[in-house]
Amino acid sequence: MENWTIFGETLKPGEMRRTTLRIPMGGLPNHGALRPAEDRAGDYEMPMFLLNGGKEGKTVLISASIHSGEYAGVPAVIRAGRELDPEKLCGRLILLPCVNTSGFWDLSHALVPENGSNLNRTYPGDAGGGVGERIKAFFVREIFPRLDFMLDLHGGSVAEKMTPLIFYPKAEKVTKVSLAAARATGVEVLVASDADNGQYSYAANFLDVPGMLLERGGGFYCDREWQEADYRDIRLLLDHLGMYPAEPSMGAGTWKHRVFREAVYVDFDASGLWYPAVEVDAPVKKGQLLGTLRDFYGETVKEYYAEADGHILYQTEGLAVREGDFLAAYGLTASETD
Ligand SMILES: [Zn+2]
Repeated sequence: MENWTIFGETLKPGEMRRTTLRIPMGGLPNHGALRPAEDRAGDYEMPMFLLNGGKEGKTVLISASIHSGEYAGVPAVIRAGRELDPEKLCGRLILLPCVNTSGFWDLSHALVPENGSNLNRTYPGDAGGGVGERIKAFFVREIFPRLDFMLDLHGGSVAEKMTPLIFYPKAEKVTKVSLAAARATGVEVLVASDADNGQYSYAANFLDVPGMLLERGGGFYCDREWQEADYRDIRLLLDHLGMYPAEPSMGAGTWKHRVFREAVYVDFDASGLWYPAVEVDAPVKKGQLLGTLRDFYGETVKEYYAEADGHILYQTEGLAVREGDFLAAYGLTASETD
């Protein structure tokens, strides 16, 4: 194994470094920093652990909190940075426990507050654009080309309930490798995704980097059980990639999975108060009532029905909804081939 030079740091084999990733903002005001800060014109900063393994192997990015209020992955990635022994690691790890630091300190649920950018959309970004666009362009230019695999941890949306799931890319060259990796985790529900302009999905579709998005949690919470499960899944993935053995208690190879090769995503086309009629992680039949949208007097504005037989993956369970907001996602039972 050789020295590793990356982002101005040089690590010897078997070395771990805690450092700060600095993304140039070209003088643009921002407050991406390791502590709450006022806007300033410096680089956008995020915490980073770099591990240069003692032996050869893959180079992997594990990121969390690109949606800043999706928390469970943050302590899980920090724990990986602190607990993994770099001497025993085969390969190299870039760990970014909190990408959207300005949103994190602003208690923004998802977006980069400086310019309202969603770091899981509109990739490849723009090196001359707003704060979020520059972060994306930096990832595309400086990080993705180095990678053999990437895992991006999400934590459910604030008004949604969900069953833990993995999205893997429908990107011809990397679907198989990505799905095989998803099967190595303890996440039961695996969903093929058509997206190609998010963080992992752009890398998969346009740079042939296999990867996946693991989503577990919700409601701005950071339950201990979700943190533990995220950490376990990081370890199971690294085990699968031949980089670091999982603990026997993590049950490598024993987890069951359900694969949904197609899913339906429904949005509200009216505004109102939402009364869901189905439960998350439960089957739904074609024609079954998904829920009723009402006004403030309890009158029905609109009823929504399932268009196909499926299984509810996640749905809005908050009360206030506006036209265009997300309603529900259900995996198609017919596509569940293994
Ligand atoms: Zn997210």
